[in-house]
Amino acid sequence: MAGEPQADCLFCKIVQGEVPATVVRETRTTVAFRDINPQAPTHVLVIPRVHYSDALSLASAEPAVAADVLREAGEVAAQEKVDATGYRIVFNTGPGAGQTVFHAHAHVLGGRDLQRLV
Ligand code: 5GP
Ligand code: ZN
Repeated sequence: MAGEPQADCLFCKIVQGEVPATVVRETRTTVAFRDINPQAPTHVLVIPRVHYSDALSLASAEPAVAADVLREAGEVAAQEKVDATGYRIVFNTGPGAGQTVFHAHAHVLGGRDLQRLV
């Protein structure tokens, strides 16, 4: 069924506590944890507890949860105190954009000069 945990999904395993992670925030619908290979002083991943392969699939099927992910990304930035200096929320979508884990997730990056991308 759509949104159900996938046995072969790393982030579903983190949601279920089967793979350890440094969790910084949790809500009923989301989990936020530090990226294992940080690209900035603050690099946190915000994921929905439900499994969808990418941001569009999540937003189409469960828009309220997609909104929760986005709001939590901002709450993480505030908690990490990078909100005043600025931060970036990234959803890599598809292999050509660098997506390697196919469970929707927002990267929250901050704490250094991130340079303008687009
Ligand atoms: P993507 O490349 O799909 O946009 O992002 C996946 C992210 O997950 C990468 O930044 C990668 O460093 C991170 N990652 C991969 N495996 C693990 C893990 O086991 N634990 C944590 N905390 N992050 C992981
Ligand atoms: Zn998953």
